[in-house]
Amino acid sequence: MDKFDVVVIGSGFSGSLVAWILASQGRSVAIIDRSGHPRFAIGESSTPTADFLLAHIADRWGLRELAPLACWGTWKSRYPEIVCGKKRGFSYYRHFPGEQYRDNADHEHSMLVAASVSDTWSDTHWLRSSVDHFLVGRAQTAGATLIEGWTLTAANYDSGNGKWEIEIAPVNAPSDTGRSISSRWIVDASGAGNALSPFVGNPPDDQWMETRTGALFAHYEGVKPFELAKSTDDPFSGDDAAQHHILDSGWCWMLRMDNGITSVGLVEPTERQSDSFDATVARYPSLAELLGNARRVAPQSGHGSIRRLSRCRARSVGPGWVLLPVTYGFVDPLHSSGIAHALSGVVRVANALLAGEGDCERLLATYDSDLRCEVEWLDRLVSGCYAAQPSFDRFIAFASFYFVAAIGFEKQMASDPSVWPLGFLQCRDTEFNEVVRRVRGMVSSLPESDRQSDRSFLELVRNSIEPWNRVGLLDPKLRNRLAHSAAPKYASIAAS
Ligand SMILES: Cc1cc2nc3c(=O)[nH]c(=O)nc-3n(C[C@H](O)[C@H](O)[C@H](O)COP(=O)(O)OP(=O)(O)OC[C@H]3O[C@@H](n4cnc5c(N)ncnc54)[C@H](O)[C@@H]3O)c2cc1C
Repeated sequence: MDKFDVVVIGSGFSGSLVAWILASQGRSVAIIDRSGHPRFAIGESSTPTADFLLAHIADRWGLRELAPLACWGTWKSRYPEIVCGKKRGFSYYRHFPGEQYRDNADHEHSMLVAASVSDTWSDTHWLRSSVDHFLVGRAQTAGATLIEGWTLTAANYDSGNGKWEIEIAPVNAPSDTGRSISSRWIVDASGAGNALSPFVGNPPDDQWMETRTGALFAHYEGVKPFELAKSTDDPFSGDDAAQHHILDSGWCWMLRMDNGITSVGLVEPTERQSDSFDATVARYPSLAELLGNARRVAPQSGHGSIRRLSRCRARSVGPGWVLLPVTYGFVDPLHSSGIAHALSGVVRVANALLAGEGDCERLLATYDSDLRCEVEWLDRLVSGCYAAQPSFDRFIAFASFYFVAAIGFEKQMASDPSVWPLGFLQCRDTEFNEVVRRVRGMVSSLPESDRQSDRSFLELVRNSIEPWNRVGLLDPKLRNRLAHSAAPKYASIAAS
């Protein structure tokens, strides 16, 4: 029987990074994945929070080869072969059915929020097939054993000796060709695959989640730039962004990679979900125009589809096992929080598993209660945006709560990336959380959207965020064009 200190299930970026850290610190690690690399994966728009965390991981555990991935400029000069895209911030454009996209001088139908001062220090979109392949390779170089095309078929924990006996089998072969592995820990990084939960009695627990959306997605070549939307006062090109095309209900993302591939996806509330990506796009002429000559290149079999995105499990930790954040729970791609959340878990789980026994238990207990609080927080920040639709004013007003949280957390990361007194994305800021909870409660019962009630809601949110609003969110003088001013603190790590 093969023996390891830790078995990691899933070789996406988060499983690969945990394995890389632990192997680099002398632990014996096996990574088991039911598929092989390179492979199509969704979830590609990074954020400043994710960049801070990447730089922190590189710094804390001496993973020098990881550091350049924290900024677009350092990434491109060090690893031109790993495919990414330039992301200067978030752009939002409101489309109406049957009408060409149009805006006015006050930008009432668009919003741009910059996340970086220049191209060099900007965030990135990750072509996951390329990034994940690189990271799992680094984990192997550090000593981890990669077992691809295999999955878990049984897992028994002996609390007497604190060891797992794990049975694995190839996904495409009869079960009698399986093998046994023994390990001290199982880290489940299998995402929606939730490989471990059935073996440890960890049922779904997601009825409480208010965000109920589904997605259709694919990679395209030949998506046009959104010329019609460009304006001389834009702080950056709205194409170099997590581009959000806001529809009557739901939205369409476009993430442009440097190799000509664009990740495109449609997210809609489950009760109004369309079965046809093309039919929904065709209702919005300017969106259809962007995709007019585009060719779908992946997945080969057609659009990827997830009927309901939000999910959560009862627990994230048990004897000898731990789930990474996106295996435990996921809300929706709206605020691009998934990569950052996954990385925040990589930091915490690696810290715990490398600590002494007593500290490890304490750190994992805190992790378990924090994760529930974080998924609830993300659910509140996201669900309010969908509830605010179709009004664009109400949508961007509610989205401002997310920007307040993200900017506050980035400030904390800049002063000390290893201490988060108010939690991931400030989820434990009780005063701010209470404000968001109160306004979230109001959104669903607002009067029908009209100019006056939309404007008064926007004003209410502007007043509510005032104590935390450092960048002029919702300030009418800025006309929905938000520019950042400071170079990121992680720049020196990324460039080292
Ligand atoms: C539609 C959509 C859009 C998203 N967009 C964004 C975005 O723009 N920005 C952002 O930050 N986040 C986004 N996310 C979230 C993002 O996808 C996740 O944060 C990210 O994928 C988490 O990475 P991971 O490595 O933890 O898991 P995954 O990427 O899910 O990797 C899981 C790995 O486990 C393997 N696996 C699964 N089941 C088993 C099994 N039974 N046995 C063995 N191996 C198994 C898989 O093959 C895979 O390699 C999005 C998510 C969705 C669903």
